[in-house]
Amino acid sequence: MSSKLKWIDEELQSLKDSGLYNEIRTLGSPQGAWLVVDGKRVLNFCSNNYLGLANHPHVVSAAKEAMDKYGVGPGAVRTIAGTMELHLELERRIAKFKRVEDAITFQSGFTANTGTIPALMGKEDMIFSDALNHASIIDGCRLSGATIKRYGHADPASLETVIKENKGNYRRGLIVTDGVFSMDGDYPPLDKLTEIAEKYDLILMVDDAHGEGVLGEGGRGIVDHFKLHGKVDIEVGTFSKAFGVMGGVVAGDAKIIQWLRQRGRPFLFSSAVTVPDVAATIASIDLLEESTELVDRLWANAATFKGEMESMGFDTGKSMTPITPVMLGSAKLAREFSRKLYEENVFAMALGYPTVPVGQARIRVMISAAHTDDDIAQALKAFEKVGKELEVI
Ligand SMILES: *Cc1c(COP(=O)(O)O)cnc(C)c1O
Repeated sequence: MSSKLKWIDEELQSLKDSGLYNEIRTLGSPQGAWLVVDGKRVLNFCSNNYLGLANHPHVVSAAKEAMDKYGVGPGAVRTIAGTMELHLELERRIAKFKRVEDAITFQSGFTANTGTIPALMGKEDMIFSDALNHASIIDGCRLSGATIKRYGHADPASLETVIKENKGNYRRGLIVTDGVFSMDGDYPPLDKLTEIAEKYDLILMVDDAHGEGVLGEGGRGIVDHFKLHGKVDIEVGTFSKAFGVMGGVVAGDAKIIQWLRQRGRPFLFSSAVTVPDVAATIASIDLLEESTELVDRLWANAATFKGEMESMGFDTGKSMTPITPVMLGSAKLAREFSRKLYEENVFAMALGYPTVPVGQARIRVMISAAHTDDDIAQALKAFEKVGKELEVI
């Protein structure tokens, strides 16, 4: 047998030996507060379904109705024959919801980043990137060929130092940051970043994947939260998290959006999003525009959970949002904690190195508006029991 792929066996074994091999769990139910995972019914604290929209009746029926009218597949890329009326309606609706000039949609948040950054930045340019930015931002930066300079996480002073150090060394510059950072649930002081962007005449881009549907008035995102409309050039977003569907979006300055329709490679060379995805996303926007009830419920659930966890003596880190890390330190302890929670029918993920720094392993609890008071109470009981058993509290 040929040995050209033997390295894969060795690499896989090494992942298994170091406890880093991904064991992928399988759902036998729709997304929701409760899931059937590998045949077992568990309380779900793992998904990004912040508002419970992934299986909302209004969203599901909108997808079905649209399929009766338009079918399923788009049949082409957006720039050839794949742009349907629905795609344009979604772009108008999301731009209005986000209170920006215009918007363009992509197949995912990931392709939104890898399409946008290389369309704006090239070899002679420089990107100032937060040290903890998402993998899709990092890949977009690398694809652009620009020089990448990291600055300290959510630290405007560090950003300004790095900019000054590189003064005159580039043609165009871009500052790029996550909105909400998904491992800690914190967000940067975006108001300070806009001041720096203005002072040094840099493009400012924020990837608000975990902020949309969560932060700002009725879930309009981090720019709305800080009231910085018109001061952030580009907001990247995803429809796969709070919106409960699939797809990516870039919202902001009309000129930039017009440019991306010409030069965003996944827009030109990868087919349009499917009909049910687009219709379902429009239905999610309907729900968010009609009422702030779901967003309010999300924050109320998060406040209850965090407050009770802290009074039991757990450390919930730097979280400023419904993403609640439960800091445990050692990766082994975090894995054991997660396993014991699962025995109590609570599904919450342990995260260790290299996803988070060494010695900062944690359980990450994803709160949702779909959780009832009873669900939250049951989770708190399980955390208390396991926390005492493992002598964390
Ligand atoms: C989840 C996430 C993405 C990817 O979004 P998808 O639509 O799932 O591809 C991009 N950026 C950030 C910050 C994310 O958290």
